[in-house]
Amino acid sequence: MSAVYTETLNNLIEQFGKLPGIGPKTAERLAFHILKSGPAEAIALADAIRDVKTKIRFCEICYNLSEQPVCKICSDSKRDKSIICVVEQPRDVIKLEQTGLCKWVYHVLGGHIAPLDGIEPDDLTINKLVERVRAGGVTEVVMATNPNIAGDGTALYISSLLKPTAVNITRLARGLPTGSTIEYASGKILTDAITGRQQME
Ligand SMILES: [Zn+2]
Repeated sequence: MSAVYTETLNNLIEQFGKLPGIGPKTAERLAFHILKSGPAEAIALADAIRDVKTKIRFCEICYNLSEQPVCKICSDSKRDKSIICVVEQPRDVIKLEQTGLCKWVYHVLGGHIAPLDGIEPDDLTINKLVERVRAGGVTEVVMATNPNIAGDGTALYISSLLKPTAVNITRLARGLPTGSTIEYASGKILTDAITGRQQME
């Protein structure tokens, strides 16, 4: 941090520098861009950042991001609520929705089970998923956790919990490379994975 800049400017550079993929040079450039831009533009950016932290919450049903108590997907009457697709994070919902194939609803876990990182099943929304299935009306649960060790382990754990409910449990087909993530899969691969989903053992 340069002593040449004022404290306020240094602070802005420091805040930009905390963002992923932003090095010190870029942080400095962004800060100077804000400094030069009109007040309206700069305040709009500040407001957008504040809004994302104050207005966005989790859907009461599926735990996807929402600005209402119930998200747009859960409140869509055209959705098939008998099929729940289980994903790790909200970005996976966006990715799957982009294929245009999904008429189901979701359940967002909020991550995957990772005991070594201190993430236990109770830290995720797994119990809420089991409650949803137990409440009835659900015929299929599609596991769309990431095809890596943590995602597979989480899917297996959930399927063992759901077994007594006799719901049909499937998983996305294995066109997805093992060790990869939903987030970075191509649309074509995801389309194949959705249409060719398989029974989970
Ligand atoms: Zn929802």
